[in-house]
Amino acid sequence: MIFALDLEGCIAPEIWPVLGATYRLPDFALTTRDIGDFDELMQRRVAAARRAGITLADLQKLAHAVEPYLGAREFIARLRSMGNVVIISDTFHEFSDPLAAKLGGVNLFANRFELDEKGIISGFKLRIRGQKERIVSGFKSAGFKVAAMGDSMNDFSLLNSCDLPVLYRPVDALRQAVPHGHVSDNLDDALEYFEAAKRRLDETGDLR
Ligand SMILES: [Mg+2]
Repeated sequence: MIFALDLEGCIAPEIWPVLGATYRLPDFALTTRDIGDFDELMQRRVAAARRAGITLADLQKLAHAVEPYLGAREFIARLRSMGNVVIISDTFHEFSDPLAAKLGGVNLFANRFELDEKGIISGFKLRIRGQKERIVSGFKSAGFKVAAMGDSMNDFSLLNSCDLPVLYRPVDALRQAVPHGHVSDNLDDALEYFEAAKRRLDETGDLR
């Protein structure tokens, strides 16, 4: 069994609003909860960083200080006792690798930045965008059952293609788009739901 989790808004706070508040840049503070088109969202963030002359190293000082939600580390440890855990996120390795380490060294699949000669972000390589469904189908074709958890529309393909979707404090649009998903408002509830599914899987061979 594989647990494929979104990062920001599920097991850690959103990083960009922290950057937006510090630098007083509204284009930073927008998240996937505000703008569904991730490419457009990132273009705006990159343009804002360039205008302000902010380097990746500046941003990393703040991003690397972000801590997981309380209980998130334990949540992941419990999931790991039942299966493999991967985080599939629209975040960037340059921001979130330390967060993955704080969560117990969990596998992170994320995007990468491109930098100019001054160390300012000039672009980005989206390894994850449009790939979430393919990653899930890869796991499935390798014989795994896939449970997933996400909070925003950028998790739609992940949640819609997995065997067991959990919507974590979801935006309304996601709730409507994945009506068969289990809605959780806290990590204890999500864990309980995953544990019950794992018991069913062991007993009947199916998650549902
Ligand atoms: Mg999220």
